Amino acid sequence: MQYSDKVMDHFLNPRNVGQIEDASGIGEVGNAKCGDIMKIFLDIEDEIIKDVKFQTFGCGSAIASSSMATEMVKGKNIHEALEITNKAVAEALDGLPPVKMHCSVLAEQAIKAALIDYAQKNNIHIPELDGVVIDDDHDHHHDIEED
Ligand SMILES: [Zn+2]
Repeated sequence: MQYSDKVMDHFLNPRNVGQIEDASGIGEVGNAKCGDIMKIFLDIEDEIIKDVKFQTFGCGSAIASSSMATEMVKGKNIHEALEITNKAVAEALDGLPPVKMHCSVLAEQAIKAALIDYAQKNNIHIPELDGVVIDDDHDHHHDIEED
């Protein structure tokens, strides 16, 4: 299995590791295939993601995806952050092996879960999140993983 230099870099030197006290939103997701668990903390002010941290217990691809996803959402507004797909995360990493694409799906879902948490805590409506279901059934296999 071949990993890109960017995957290796973000795996060995992950950005934004940690947690945020009194985070505006926290999202936690997991998958059964690798046993990855990903937790993302967002600090949001005036709809701008001022800071983001993550804790991932999982495979190298999950850690690299978390690191890259946090870099991609930092400084963006919540609507821009919701446009970031797992494919965009994988592309930013110069690709992931096909069997590891589900690890990038986790990063997309963790961000969405954190924004759902933020919306609920602040009693606001984010149209992009309408109909979004975060699957916390860890045994479920996602259709969007295979591509
Ligand atoms: Zn994984």
